[in-house]
Amino acid sequence: MPRPLRSPSILDHVGGTPLVPLSRIAGDCPVPVLAKCEHMNPGGSVKDRLAVAIVDDAEERGLLAPGGTIVEATAGNTGMGLALVAAVRGYSLVCVLPEKMSADKRDALAMLGARVVVVPNAPLDDPRNFQQEARRLARERGWFLADQFRNPVNPRVHAETTGPEVLEQAEGRIGAFVAGVGTGGTLTGVGRFLKHRLPGVRVVLAEPAGSPLAGWVRDGAPGEDAPYQVEGIGSSQPPEVLDASVIDAVEVVGDDESFAMTRRLVLEEGLLVGGSSGTAVVAALRVARSGAVDAPVVAVLPDAWDRYRSKPWMRGWLPGDEDRGRGRGD
Ligand code: PMP
Repeated sequence: MPRPLRSPSILDHVGGTPLVPLSRIAGDCPVPVLAKCEHMNPGGSVKDRLAVAIVDDAEERGLLAPGGTIVEATAGNTGMGLALVAAVRGYSLVCVLPEKMSADKRDALAMLGARVVVVPNAPLDDPRNFQQEARRLARERGWFLADQFRNPVNPRVHAETTGPEVLEQAEGRIGAFVAGVGTGGTLTGVGRFLKHRLPGVRVVLAEPAGSPLAGWVRDGAPGEDAPYQVEGIGSSQPPEVLDASVIDAVEVVGDDESFAMTRRLVLEEGLLVGGSSGTAVVAALRVARSGAVDAPVVAVLPDAWDRYRSKPWMRGWLPGDEDRGRGRGD
């Protein structure tokens, strides 16, 4: 197999994202709330980290060489990260997305040259499920499956990069770490790293109301299973890479609260983020106000707002006709 060419590129600038205090939103909290700005990665999400790490690992193990095809089941963000890697390193990319994912994400992937396969929103044990479909395509076509839900490189890259970054940026003082779980890579990797370094740290799962995962983590059995609109987090059952033993508490957040907080993050903090960032920050504020911690609370902002502009919840931020009329000609 030809050796992949690793010339300097934008991929060298994945990670190293800012940690920003939410001074306006959390100014009244007894401890600071710090936001890890993963939306500022080159592909606009936390998933750039694992996209680069998974491809590096596959190249090193001889599973992938330039000209090859990568396939992945993705809520969109991993697809964007993989599309950047594919562009720079010369791969083809096929992304399998559940129908629920926004048209913005679908279009962006297609515009970046990926082939997009959309499947119904089906549970994991249904053959039409996006993970099952990606697995089938990989098997039948001989493509490389990035496999973010099972690949140990996913939590490992967070234990090796995201975790050490937040600890250093917070100058060694973290009372709690708060994140949602899609694959569980972020929470598992950062949670393991921080628990090793700061034995008293609390790791808190931010869950969308309606996701059965909250029940799995709290009681070992599925919780309430109802539709919700926040994308990229929550699960019908615990994903394989999630190490639930690192989780100390679960905060359940409704769509309305998540989206209202996302809007505040945009308007009051200038953080141009998506809905799951709102979920994480609502949970982080609860932890900060609970009195359970005496050091800063770190929340992850997983992705950028540009992939949700067509969604009704974000369209609703536009001024009404009246307001728009007033602003005209200014
Ligand atoms: N938020 C969004 C918008 C995501 O796409 C994802 C990943 N699916 C996450 C949060 C959760 O990240 P992880 O997969 O590391 O648990």
